[in-house]
Amino acid sequence: MSELKLVFEEPKQRKKAPEHLADLTKEERRAKAESLGLPAFRANQISTHYFTHYNDDPDSWTDIPAALRPVVAEHFLPKLITLVRSITCDNGKTRKDLWRLHDGVLVESVLMRYSDRTTVCISSQAGCGMNCPFCATGQAGLTRNLTAGEITAQLVASARACATGELPGGPTRLSNVVFMGMGEPLANYNAVMRTVRNIVTPQPDGLGIGARSVTVSTVGLVTGIEKLTEEDLQVTLAVSLHTPDDELRDTLVPINSRWKVKEVLAAADKYAEKTGRRYSIEYALIRDINDQQWRADLLGRLLKNRHAHVNLIPLNPTPGSKWTASRKEDERTFVKTLENYGVPVTVRDTRGREIDGACGQLAAAEIKNS
Ligand code: SF4
Repeated sequence: MSELKLVFEEPKQRKKAPEHLADLTKEERRAKAESLGLPAFRANQISTHYFTHYNDDPDSWTDIPAALRPVVAEHFLPKLITLVRSITCDNGKTRKDLWRLHDGVLVESVLMRYSDRTTVCISSQAGCGMNCPFCATGQAGLTRNLTAGEITAQLVASARACATGELPGGPTRLSNVVFMGMGEPLANYNAVMRTVRNIVTPQPDGLGIGARSVTVSTVGLVTGIEKLTEEDLQVTLAVSLHTPDDELRDTLVPINSRWKVKEVLAAADKYAEKTGRRYSIEYALIRDINDQQWRADLLGRLLKNRHAHVNLIPLNPTPGSKWTASRKEDERTFVKTLENYGVPVTVRDTRGREIDGACGQLAAAEIKNS
């Protein structure tokens, strides 16, 4: 029990980030405008600038009287994230941004341009309390939850970078969002759900990205999966399983001591049943740890009649860690074994590997150097 308390409690009381437009529902935005003595339609104008034009600088808005702009800036669009630095690789098509939040905390987002889509991977917490031993973020522990405003700000900055042609290949549209950066999204449930609503709500009140293009990942917080099932959203659920047996999973994903593999898969099955959406099983292949053929067999048997797809991730090793990626031949055998069970499987491409692409690595390096 004390272990669980550690996982879910924020370690310190910190000054909360100032309230932002993106923390509020459409109705709350209008009510807030009125409480400031502004007509409610001003809230719609602000939303349009933010979610349609990705513009968060009221000084540049000509449809708002100059005298009102400082009020709008202070009460609706306080600056929540500041870019510390960006690193690119894959000829600029992958860009990792490191952000400083209002209290000095660092988080990361990664923007990846592919031929058919542009995806951003965002952070939902600063650090993470889940303590997975192979993960840089997990080693540092949880600093705090991000607000919806702080999570959405990463998205709007990415959408702006796409629209203004900052990535090679000219202007494009941000098309996909994955909650797979720092943190366990379902441990920051309310802020993540507010953000998901900001993503899927049509413009001008949200970013207008289809729910099917949004992936929410979890290490298997069953109560969170159950809540998500009740949301009536078509987002993709990704379960970071990493091994099919409880014995190893208790070590690799410590929250497994609370919810076992069987319970996690049962919750994911209910999600699939309710939404009709296939869920994804994330599996970081770690050399000689979880990549044996017998584990592939066990995973195949577990998943063969489920509405699930396996996404194998060659581990991006954390500097100084004993964990490393599987040998290519073991990876191939793992894939083949799952295919023999008729389980759909893909190997994720390892974008961002040269730029400390695993979650938390850039922030960890920045903290070490500062
Ligand atoms: S792998 Fe994900 S859930 Fe586990 S510690 Fe890292 S960020 Fe947290």
